[in-house]
Amino acid sequence: MTTTSNAAPGLGTQTLLVHGGPSCDPTTGATAVPIYQTTAYAYKSAQEIAEVFRGEAPGYVYTRVANPTTLALECRLAELEGGIGCVATSSGMAAIASTMTALVRTGSEIVSAAGIFGGTISLFCNTLGRFGVKTVFVDAEDTDGFRDAIGPDTGAVFLETIGNPRMDVPDMPAIAEIAHAAGVPLVVDGTVTTPLLVKPGDHGADVVIYSTSKYVNGHGTAIGGAIVDTGNFDWSQSRVEDIRDLVPVVGRMAFLKYQRSIVHRDLGGCASPTNSFYMLQGLESLGPRMERHCGNALALAGYLDAHPDVPWVNYPGLADSPFFGRTEELFGGQAGGLVTFGLGTIERAYGFIDALRLAKVAANIGDAKTLVIHPASTIFSEFGDDLCSRSGVTDDMVRVSVGIEDFDDIRNDFAQAIDTATEMA
Ligand SMILES: *Cc1c(COP(=O)(O)O)cnc(C)c1O
Repeated sequence: MTTTSNAAPGLGTQTLLVHGGPSCDPTTGATAVPIYQTTAYAYKSAQEIAEVFRGEAPGYVYTRVANPTTLALECRLAELEGGIGCVATSSGMAAIASTMTALVRTGSEIVSAAGIFGGTISLFCNTLGRFGVKTVFVDAEDTDGFRDAIGPDTGAVFLETIGNPRMDVPDMPAIAEIAHAAGVPLVVDGTVTTPLLVKPGDHGADVVIYSTSKYVNGHGTAIGGAIVDTGNFDWSQSRVEDIRDLVPVVGRMAFLKYQRSIVHRDLGGCASPTNSFYMLQGLESLGPRMERHCGNALALAGYLDAHPDVPWVNYPGLADSPFFGRTEELFGGQAGGLVTFGLGTIERAYGFIDALRLAKVAANIGDAKTLVIHPASTIFSEFGDDLCSRSGVTDDMVRVSVGIEDFDDIRNDFAQAIDTATEMA
């Protein structure tokens, strides 16, 4: 399915957030994208539906494969990313699982940055591992380590724009060059930066995946994900025969065609139309929200960094962070809304979390509200010490997803909770 956008070429990112994709309903003129809450689409004849089914005529057949509300979201995300197309998914995990299903097979390897989202580590090690896919983790700063790890069976190189929870910023352009020299696509998870801070395709990424459940949605109301093809990779050179075979048929859309027609059809990780509506609505306010998330996070990181009872803080936007320079270079100095910090002991970390009054204790990130969690005893609790330490997870770590509240209220809440934790210990 393709559709023409109503957005003129060359529009800015903030404008595309609001106007990208087909934003007016062609039949009623409704200014909001209608929710096409339907499973299937009726046709007048056997002949007509057969043509659509075979892709010989435009149209929708079944919402697992395509839906007009979801397509509007896909178009807007592709335009925001400067990509050639997008497939929306039921979750961020579905986006990563679908992408890797297309790129690897039994005997393949994934070369991944260490210190990434816990669910992704589990997917790579547990589920894909069970199908005979091996993942080699490389420390995100060890750019040359990526070159050493890539071999003839590598199906994909994977990294996050900012690794969570260690908050490291890999050298994406250099790693992209290394992956391309070996003929391997670079898959980048841009969830925590969103297209506002960086378009990974501009720095060599071939496939960008998002959990739209986070900043795109922005309000913690729906789970979703997306896969964007940036157009950088020459799929005629793909190591996957099935994708190569599609190049003569659909050209540079081969990877997305494979996603939609095979992976999506077979695995069923489709986005729900109502959730796609929530994501479109979230995108419209992503610009001002992201600015506040980043501003509040920088202020909170600075406050914690200067606090005598806080031994350490990870935030790539702090001038003394080893990733400050790369944050300037790749993200224009905006370092996102996540901060991790230590309180010295697990008891103090728990004491701090329990004393919070405003911030919520929750597993997600990217909500308008400030959220905190203790990663070692939750998201990372099932991983071994080696993976935890390579991920930068320590017993005293607290992760904060900084919200868009008044900064003074966030700071006051943290100040009293740190005092409480310090007094107890
Ligand atoms: C949450 C998250 C995911 C998984 O997304 P879901 O929508 O929860 O499935 C993947 N990557 C990152 C960086 C995330 O924060």
